[in-house]
Amino acid sequence: MQEFSGPERELLRRYCTNVERRTFALRGLPEVVRGALFSRYSRTEKSLRRVLLDEFLRDPAAGLDTGDAGADHLVDAARAEDFYQRVLVGYGDDSVAELAGAHVAVESVSNLAAKALEDSRVGLSPLEKSTRYVRFDRPGAGGRYAYHRGPELAHAAYEPAVDALFATYSELVVPLTERVRESHPREPDESERAWKTATRARALDLLRGLLPAATLTNLGLYGNGRAFEYLLTKLAASDLPECRGLAGELHSELAQVIPAFVRRALDERYGAPAAAYLVEARRRVSELAPRRGLARPPDGPEVRLVEHDADAERRVVAAALFPQSDLPLAELGRADVEVDVVLRALLDGRTNRRHRAPRALEHAHYTFEITANFGAYRDLQRHRMLSQERQLLGTALGYDVPPDLAVYGMDGPFRKAVERAGEAHRAMEPALGPALAQYAVPLAFRLRWYFRATLREVYHLCELRTSAQGHPDYRYVAQEMFRRVREVHPRLAAYARFVDMGPGDGLERRASEQRIDRKLAELGG
Ligand SMILES: Cc1cc2nc3c(=O)[nH]c(=O)nc-3n(C[C@H](O)[C@H](O)[C@H](O)COP(=O)(O)OP(=O)(O)OC[C@H]3O[C@@H](n4cnc5c(N)ncnc54)[C@H](O)[C@@H]3O)c2cc1C
Repeated sequence: MQEFSGPERELLRRYCTNVERRTFALRGLPEVVRGALFSRYSRTEKSLRRVLLDEFLRDPAAGLDTGDAGADHLVDAARAEDFYQRVLVGYGDDSVAELAGAHVAVESVSNLAAKALEDSRVGLSPLEKSTRYVRFDRPGAGGRYAYHRGPELAHAAYEPAVDALFATYSELVVPLTERVRESHPREPDESERAWKTATRARALDLLRGLLPAATLTNLGLYGNGRAFEYLLTKLAASDLPECRGLAGELHSELAQVIPAFVRRALDERYGAPAAAYLVEARRRVSELAPRRGLARPPDGPEVRLVEHDADAERRVVAAALFPQSDLPLAELGRADVEVDVVLRALLDGRTNRRHRAPRALEHAHYTFEITANFGAYRDLQRHRMLSQERQLLGTALGYDVPPDLAVYGMDGPFRKAVERAGEAHRAMEPALGPALAQYAVPLAFRLRWYFRATLREVYHLCELRTSAQGHPDYRYVAQEMFRRVREVHPRLAAYARFVDMGPGDGLERRASEQRIDRKLAELGG
């Protein structure tokens, strides 16, 4: 640390959380400068603080005003941007665009668009409005239910069917909440807040199948420039005009905070041809893909394990031994070791689901084909550490009615509205095409998708998504996924101890809400 003079330390302190230790964070710098600064790591022997001093703070072109000791936000964004461009040209590669990020809010977009915005694995973190805690029948613009309308959806059947779905949701929500409360009265030591929240969540969970894919929602995305760039390209290539419009909107907002990172995203040289390639590939494959209408929809959701590694145990054991050995992986695969003993050594001692299973489990792969309702898909699609693709949302695979709705005598109106929407979908499909017809389809209808996941992600997904507080529809899928793995690999599955195969207690949020109460009490609130 002797390398810095007194005035240098003074200056650095404004931008670094310490000037003494080897670990520090940057502050008071615009995102572009952080990105440019980090990008220099790969090309310099200097310490980062030295680069900051020599190449940024002392270079007026960097746009950092170091004159005013009082101000922490010392940015001339335009100058910083120009400077960044030069750094990028001089030293950069594509990964430099991962070194700065942005928070963006995207509001009033359909559930279809939300899924497209959330369909990124690396570098983007979304958070979306929940159908469990928020009522979706509040009027939107013009006093009408909040769902996507647009010139591309001009079809006589669309709006009446979608309005009917929302009207049914709206009619049922209050009486259903009352019925849930009668069935699950407040417990003696339960607060009114916890009970009301848990029972309301249950009612909203039961009704969410009525919400059409067109339902407007809000989401926030935090991500790095590179992830945003690819997201913009994918949106620009979408078959939905709504998503193509979002590509432009998102781009112009991002261009205000991280312009250098998204400059190419939609331009003529890089972005537009990349999007054109995606569009063209989809068109070509679509012409080749065989299709066969279903004679009869399945009776319920289905989870099939369509592929798994026959020698998964051997692979996992070899990978577990590898870091501690000096033998090649192939030889470890033939080593004379007890599978049980190695698995126990590797996995014993996980005392909760947050104790991550080790990477060795990534050597076993599983492909699941899942047919379940769009509501369950919508939740499970959020898992990023796997490969997944879905087919278009339609009506051929049938729909699910939550069994409790029949118990409460409210399945009739639910079915009526869902079936009417199904008819609208079938009328719209030939006229508008299958992609646009998706907007009319409510979350109760099933679709088919695949997950290709490693055993490590199976542990994570199944332990998280079978927890008692989860929605019963995705709990069922996660439980079935786990059953399939346990059937083929009982010894590998045995250590996923936090998978909850129980039936659920009918009031999923109750225990969680009571836990929140206890935490609030501890905090004195
Ligand atoms: C009960 C419940 C309620 C939920 N409610 C909401 C809600 O209201 N709104 C909402 O939007 N979502 C909600 N979710 C979804 C949730 O936010 C996650 O998107 C989803 O559960 C996927 O989990 P994951 O990120 O752990 O899994 P994966 O994406 O499969 O990732 C596996 C693991 O990899 C690591 N990882 C993956 N990506 C990153 C990254 N970018 N940075 C750091 N680590 C990473 C993490 O350790 C993660 O646990 C809810 C989930 C549950 C279970």
